[in-house]
Formats: sequence, structure tokens, C-alpha cells
Amino acid sequence: MKFQCSACGLRLNSNHFKYQEAKKLQLTSICDQCLQRGAKAADFGNVPIAIFAQGLLYGFVGRDNEDQELNFLVHSKDKRKRYESFIQDYDSNELAQQQLSRQEFNQALIASEVGKIEFIPQLNLTFAENLNKLGLKVDFKLNEVDFIDRERIRAKYHYRCQYCGRRGHSVDHKDPVSLSHNNDFDNLILSCQECNRIKSNMPYELFIKLNAQIAQLNQKLVKYENALATFSGEFEQRRRSIAATMHLKGVVNDPELTQMRKQNKKLQDAIDSLSSDYDELRKLREQHFNTGWKLLQVNSKEDII
Ligand SMILES: [Zn+2]
Ligand SMILES: [Zn+2]
Repeated sequence: MKFQCSACGLRLNSNHFKYQEAKKLQLTSICDQCLQRGAKAADFGNVPIAIFAQGLLYGFVGRDNEDQELNFLVHSKDKRKRYESFIQDYDSNELAQQQLSRQEFNQALIASEVGKIEFIPQLNLTFAENLNKLGLKVDFKLNEVDFIDRERIRAKYHYRCQYCGRRGHSVDHKDPVSLSHNNDFDNLILSCQECNRIKSNMPYELFIKLNAQIAQLNQKLVKYENALATFSGEFEQRRRSIAATMHLKGVVNDPELTQMRKQNKKLQDAIDSLSSDYDELRKLREQHFNTGWKLLQVNSKEDII
């Protein structure tokens, strides 16, 4: 849910317009950044936010009506777009939020908006580059594990994913990198690429819990992976043997070769259907994790709606 700030004109996530006073949640007519720069929410109206506050039974800080001049601090629409997209990058980046407080971040933006810093975030630069140009520092590589440690972890777990049991070589942080910065050996575990990708920023405890619910499915996946590896090895061997036979006989086609090709075709069909079943299971598994994660996020989300 996005609102437009009545002072600067930026459209931002509703989180930027709420603040807690005593135990009561209030919505403000202007964004947190404008509050930080010293603007007063009570001087501005903001009909959409006022209506929202009323509907959700929150307090509203702002004027009753919107008769102020719409004279946004950030005049041009193009500039607003650039700030909005940059702020959204920050809003969705946990690593940045951990290393850089919102106040600090806002401070740099305010300096940029009033021209104290001669730089406006650019859409064609990465988030890190824009941060840099504004004099802000976030270490995005804080958690890289060095090569030798990676190999030690792989050997320790016999090249097996510790979540699903399939082959794996991704060194994974139990606590997400973005949350813990913890490179200790007991925070590192081996996983397959698939689990690594699915787990991503999910809390370790949640991932483990969801994974325990599908132990049987995981066992199936291991069987599928093994069967596919065996079949594919067999297929490759037969293919080579056809090539060798062709070479020895000096012909491309004869009854023996045709027979060999037929058998290999059958094997290929078996592999195809096996791998499509396998893909189906993998998709189901991923959905299981995504749903569990989304449910948790919806339940704990700070967003007001
Ligand atoms: Zn604002
Ligand atoms: Zn795995």
C-alpha cells in the first residue's frame, strides 16, 4: 500500500507514514523523511491517508482538508521517481537496513533533495552505486566464506545437502547472511542449490520446520536423483557403444545398430518421464516452502494493511 507525501510528493510504502505514540498508532499526512527534515504533519492535509486512518481506527496527524497549495518539495515527477525507487531499494534490503539506520539514510536523501549533496539517485545505477554516490556505505559482501573453508564444509557433509539429502555443494548460512553476519563453522551448513535458493532469507527455524513436514517427499527426491543419475550414465554408455560399433563396422545403419538405437530410445523416454515427475515434485516442494514463508510474513508484517 502506497501513499503520497503532502510535503515532498513522493509515493512511498505506508510504513513511512505511521508512527507510534503511547500505544496508539498514528498516520501522518507527510512521510518520515519530511518529519525528520523538520516539516510539521499538522500543517498538511492528506485526504487519502485521513480516510484510511478513519477506516482503520488509527489516529491521524494532519489538517482536516487539503487546501494547501500542492507545492511539493521535490518538484519534478522524474526526480520523485528516482527517489522513490531508491527508497524502495532500501526498504526491501535487510542488509542495508542493518548497517545503515533509516535516520542516516534519510539524512543523505534530505541533503540530496535540497542540493547539499549534488547527486540524485539514478535509475540506471545499482542500489550500491547510488548509495556510494550519496556517501553511504553498505558492505554487501560481509558474509562471504573463503574458498578453503567452503571445501572443508563440503567434505564435512560428504557433499550432501543437509536439508533434502540430495547432492549439494552450496555452503549455506543457517541464519540468513543478511541477518546474522555469522561466518562461524557452526552457522555454516551444506545445501544443494535448490534448497539454498528456496531458503534464501527465510529464518533457519522456519525452513527446518517446513522441511521436517515433508521428510517423505525429500526421500523421494533423493531416489529420483539417484535413478536419474544411473539412467543417464547408462544412456551415455550406450550412446558411446553405438558410436564405437558404427566405427568398427564402418556403416551407419545395420540391424544390430537399429536394435541398439531402439533400446536407447526407450531408455531416453524413461528418463524423460522420470525427470518430468521429478520436476513436478520439486515444484510442489518449493510451493510448500513459499506458502509457509508467506503466511509467516503476512502474520508479522508491520505494514498497516
Ligand atoms: Zn515527504
Ligand atoms: Zn537440498
